[in-house]
Amino acid sequence: MKTEQSKLDRRAFFKLGGTAALGLAAAGCGSKPEAQSDPVAAAEPAVAKVTRHRRLGRTEFQVSDLGMGCGSIADPNVIRYAYDHGINCFDTAESYGNGDSETKIGQAMQYMDREKIFIVTKMGIDEYPDEQEIIDRYMKSLERLQTPYADALYMHGIADVKLITHEPFHIAVAKLKADGRLKHAGISSHGPRGDEPDSMEKVLGLAAEDGRFDVMLLSYGFTNQEEGENILKVCKDKDIGTTIMKSVTGLLEMPVLDPDNPSEQVQGWIDYVMGTGATREEAIERIRTYMERQKPEFEKGVAAAKPFMEKHGIKTQDELDYASLQWVLRNPDAHTIVPSMPNFDMLDKFLPLSGTEISDSGARLLEEYAAAYAARDCRFGCTECFGACPEQLPVSTIMRYAYYYQKQGRQKHAMQKYAKLGARNAGVCLDCDAPCVGACSRGVAVPARLFEAHGLLTMA
Ligand code: SF4
Ligand code: SF4
Repeated sequence: MKTEQSKLDRRAFFKLGGTAALGLAAAGCGSKPEAQSDPVAAAEPAVAKVTRHRRLGRTEFQVSDLGMGCGSIADPNVIRYAYDHGINCFDTAESYGNGDSETKIGQAMQYMDREKIFIVTKMGIDEYPDEQEIIDRYMKSLERLQTPYADALYMHGIADVKLITHEPFHIAVAKLKADGRLKHAGISSHGPRGDEPDSMEKVLGLAAEDGRFDVMLLSYGFTNQEEGENILKVCKDKDIGTTIMKSVTGLLEMPVLDPDNPSEQVQGWIDYVMGTGATREEAIERIRTYMERQKPEFEKGVAAAKPFMEKHGIKTQDELDYASLQWVLRNPDAHTIVPSMPNFDMLDKFLPLSGTEISDSGARLLEEYAAAYAARDCRFGCTECFGACPEQLPVSTIMRYAYYYQKQGRQKHAMQKYAKLGARNAGVCLDCDAPCVGACSRGVAVPARLFEAHGLLTMA
């Protein structure tokens, strides 16, 4: 009911001038409305606002504890809505939607007080670009963002420590800073990826030692406590600002595996197998055989989750998501979390969490959950089971793409990333004897989870 009300109020906002105002902005005719006369503020009822800020390390910026991951933004009004509700940190990248995320932020820029927001953009440097290419690409990011400067430029998704000292990046950053085009250098890491083997902890630890990065983006949550906390400690010692991703962890719902009455996901599997030349009946039969083989692993996962859920009365995925974020919010060394919030509903869902934190007993529950249910959560950046797979599938990378799909609402992005893996995809698991079973010390059912991810990521 509340969601319906919010949607109506947002419609009223657009009617009153929200969308039209953005049109004016694009034409260069708009002026920043005062907060009091802002139709967003006028139309919205008591939607929660950000209530807590933290110092973002040596950048000295007072950042909202809830920031915004801008991986997939369909509508610039979502950015404006976030800003009007107190979010002041926007995390984007050149690669998000091939620049579309930056463009959407740019379309909302005239409605935000530039000095009161912190804009992060990121650049992949795996191909070792030279200084001029870095400057040119960055200037295009600024154009899309419609701003004369970004607050931070991150090396994006670093999984090879050699890139940390890629001098053309640092020379370009120094020049951009001198020209007033950039304030800080930063770095993000998910840990190992494909042939790049370095862990998130190793990458960010060495980056902190390097001394040239003022702010970092890392994954940290109750199922990835130790590695995240080790990095946060180093950052605290060096006074580096920390932004946190992938905190919404834990999946309670098992997929319904009924090929005769297929869910979207199962239909994705059927489509994939049919794409290899099988008839629909043959595809269903192959999947049924595969699922029978994997059944014990699935049942183990369900059995681990059930007592925990019953004992603590956790019934919905939302309840678990709130608790996951509040678990991170209780740590003052995690300066801002930037969950992906691609739409109004996600903002309404997470905004009330600002200023809150999980209680001690709640944290204990989550830690209990992590221990009991670890078998459902592949640890981002882990490489432990790689050696067991004759196909050399990048297991944790594929699971991460499934996370983008399921937990971040970034279906298109996830599918595009997965398609780029080419033949190294989890479709091969269907016909494999699965020597990887038992290779994960956390107990993740590797083939079952991979094929589940494959079904999601290959849906047409
Ligand atoms: S399945 Fe287990 S061993 Fe394999 S990458 Fe994930 S957490 Fe690591
Ligand atoms: S089932 Fe998949 S992940 Fe496991 S060994 Fe076979 S191809 Fe590799």
